Amino acid sequence: MRARTQLVPHFAGRGRIVSWERPVHDPGAGELLLQVRANALCGTDRDQLHNGSDVTPGHEAAGDVVAAGPGTSTQVGTSGVVFLMDFCGECRSCRAGATNQCLAKRADMGFTDDGGLGQFERIHETNFFATGPELDPAEATLLLDVMGTTSQALARAAAVRPDIQSVLVAGAGPVGLGVVAMARLVLGPGSPILITDLNPYRLELAERLGAVPVDLRHRKLASALRDAGLAEGADVAIDTAGRESARRSLLDGLGRRGVLVCVGHGQGLTISVSDDLIGPERAVVGSEYFRYEALSANDELLRRNRAYLGQIITHRFGIGDLEEAYRLFLAGETGKVVIEQ
Ligand SMILES: [Zn+2]
Ligand SMILES: [Zn+2]
Repeated sequence: MRARTQLVPHFAGRGRIVSWERPVHDPGAGELLLQVRANALCGTDRDQLHNGSDVTPGHEAAGDVVAAGPGTSTQVGTSGVVFLMDFCGECRSCRAGATNQCLAKRADMGFTDDGGLGQFERIHETNFFATGPELDPAEATLLLDVMGTTSQALARAAAVRPDIQSVLVAGAGPVGLGVVAMARLVLGPGSPILITDLNPYRLELAERLGAVPVDLRHRKLASALRDAGLAEGADVAIDTAGRESARRSLLDGLGRRGVLVCVGHGQGLTISVSDDLIGPERAVVGSEYFRYEALSANDELLRRNRAYLGQIITHRFGIGDLEEAYRLFLAGETGKVVIEQ
C-alpha cells in the first residue's frame, strides 16, 4: 500500500507556523485513526509556538474514526474527543480511576505525539471518548479543558470542602470561564461566583455566564466580596492565572475551611502556615487535567446545556487561518477559539 501523507502545521519556533508533509500512520493493535474535525486552542500552546515543536501540536481534538486497528471495538464513523493523556489503565493510579495521574503514561497527545492540528491523529482506543454525532465537533471539544479540567478542580475542592456555597476565580481565560460555567451548573444560581481579571472582554463574557466580574484595575477584591455578601470570605478559590499575586489574593479572599485550588501553571506562592492554613483550616491543592471517567457525566451536562456552554466558544477558524487565530486568541480578545477542518 502506498504511504499516505498529510499536510500539517509545523511550529518552527518564535511564533512561526509553516506547513509540512507528514505520514498518515495506519492504526496498530488497540489504536484508532481519527480524521480531525476540530481542535481548540489553549494558552499552553504558547510554549510550543515560541519554542517550536517536533510533533504536531493540538491537545483538544474532536474527530471521526476513519480506521480501527486490530483488537479495537470502536466502529469506523464514530465521532468523539481525544483525552490528552495516553494512560496505561493498569497502574495503581489508573486502577483507582486517577487516569490523569497515570504512573506509566505512554504519551501526551499534542506534546509528545502528533496531536489535533493535523488532518489525522492516531491514538489508543483507550483515550478516545465517543460522543455521538449530535454534538458539532467544536462543541465536543468543550468536554476537554473547558469542562474536564474545571470539573476536576471543583472535585478537588469538594473533596476537602463538601458544602461549597461560593466560588472565587482568578483569570477569565477559557479555563476561568469554564470554572464559572461548571460551578454555575453544579452549584446552581444561588451560589455567588466572583471572577477577577484585567481584561474587560473576558470579564463581560464571564458575567454573561452568571459570574460577578471584578475588574482589578478599578476594584479591590475585598470590597467586591463584601458587596456579594461574602465578607467572611469565599468557600473555594480557583486560580487559573498562575501568578503569585493572584494566588495570594485568592488565599486572602478565602473564609475559614476554604480551599484554594491551583490549576494554572506558572509562578509560586508564599504561605504563612500558621495564619493561612492551620488557624482557619484552609487547604491549598493542585489539580491537573481530569480523570477520563469524568467524560460521561460532562457529556450529559453538555447535551443538556449546549447553548449555555456554547457561549464560551467565541471564534472558529479554518486551519489556513491558524496564525491569525493564535494572534487573536493570545491577545485575549476571545473566549475559546476552535480550528475546524
Ligand atoms: Zn489545554
Ligand atoms: Zn496508569
